Amino acid sequence: GKPKVIVIGGGAGGATAARYLMKDGKGEIDVTLIEPSRMYYTCFFSNLYIGGVRDFETLGHDYGGLAKAGVNVVHDMAVGIDRDTKQVTIASGAKLPYDKLVLAPGIDFVEGAVPGWSVAAQNKMPHAYKGGSQTQLLKAQLEAMPEGGTFAMIAPPNPYRCPPGPYERVSMVANLLSNINPTAKIIIADPKDKFSKQALFQEGWGRHYDGMIDWIGPEFGGGNVSVDPDAMTVTIDGEVTEVDACNVIPAMKAGHICEIAGVTEGNWAPVDGAGMVSKADPDVHVLGDSSAQGDMPKSGFSANSQAKVAAMAIRGELLGSKVFPAKFSNTCWSLIAPDDGVKVGASYAATPEKIAKTDGFISQTGEDAALRKATYEESVGWYEGITSDMFG
Ligand code: FAD
Repeated sequence: GKPKVIVIGGGAGGATAARYLMKDGKGEIDVTLIEPSRMYYTCFFSNLYIGGVRDFETLGHDYGGLAKAGVNVVHDMAVGIDRDTKQVTIASGAKLPYDKLVLAPGIDFVEGAVPGWSVAAQNKMPHAYKGGSQTQLLKAQLEAMPEGGTFAMIAPPNPYRCPPGPYERVSMVANLLSNINPTAKIIIADPKDKFSKQALFQEGWGRHYDGMIDWIGPEFGGGNVSVDPDAMTVTIDGEVTEVDACNVIPAMKAGHICEIAGVTEGNWAPVDGAGMVSKADPDVHVLGDSSAQGDMPKSGFSANSQAKVAAMAIRGELLGSKVFPAKFSNTCWSLIAPDDGVKVGASYAATPEKIAKTDGFISQTGEDAALRKATYEESVGWYEGITSDMFG
């Protein structure tokens, strides 16, 4: 029969991989996508929803396009992987055979990373770092803050999904609060002594939200944090602060199914960037946030770019189609305030050691309003283009 590929995870990486494996629609490969959710809500642009710049509905994408393209979409959770017999077990109990397996399950959180916090308390202190209901919950909690109240963010250590994400979120929270609760305060406890696009964010915070945001880096105890979700307190370097809303973004690791598959080393799944092939198994590919690949940031753009390389490599092996040298790209846009967009991006190539950056660019401080607006508009076009490249 036809060669079988199973893709686990229908997010940025997995959805793209499934579409590009089906390329031409000739059906030379039997592609199955395993994804529990019927709707995928992007994390990208979710901060814009929090900021009041975008509607929640615009973030949702269903799997009808992939099904129509011929992908066998199975709405279930992968719970077991036997790499010897090459079978995936799903929560319903069914076993699915594969010739090639693609793992794109995104992230899970490191247990105990923020003392006092656990997934059991994510309704009191949301992470909002997986899309959908958590994002809605965080926004509702921000809207319910008392006048002049305090919002705290516990920022994650490197490496994590979307390096500028927490700081774009702070910007959008500040935008929301300046409209509905202008005397509110924002504190960020951060274990990192620097962060992505820091000069751009700090310039923008000064310009748009002067005095509202207090960033506490590790030299002031930002890395020594615990929380009490029942009491709604945050303890930074021994000092207890009462908060009205709290966004805990814990340390991250590869989606748990990667551990079950036995392809992780430490928190992530190492790959050879040439085809995004697991270092533990030549028939397993790992894409997106779960992979440890080298220089690329964990982003939706990166996952999409990596998925195309993996699909090409798999089609090459299974069908003998032509395989070109692996090239990747990424841009991360961030919105600091309405119409004030910035970006950072780079190109990458696979080397024997890792995926290595070949060149890059970043927005500059002091740019004029017209350029910042153009950068934001570019990001809106990117969102439309990339989500149709992923979901059809
Ligand atoms: P995901 O997109 O998370 O997809 C993983 C999928 O796997 C999920 O649908 C999940 O349900 C499924 N899954 C997990 N386990 C299993 C299992 N056992 N069985 C079956 N299915 C499973 N990126 C950008 O490029 N630009 C941005 O502007 C941007 N902004 C962001 C802002 C925020 C606030 C956040 C949190 C992230 C942002 N990102 C951005 C990052 C981006 O969302 C991720 O890097 C991207 O989604 C990673 O893709 P992925 O395919 O690895 O994982």
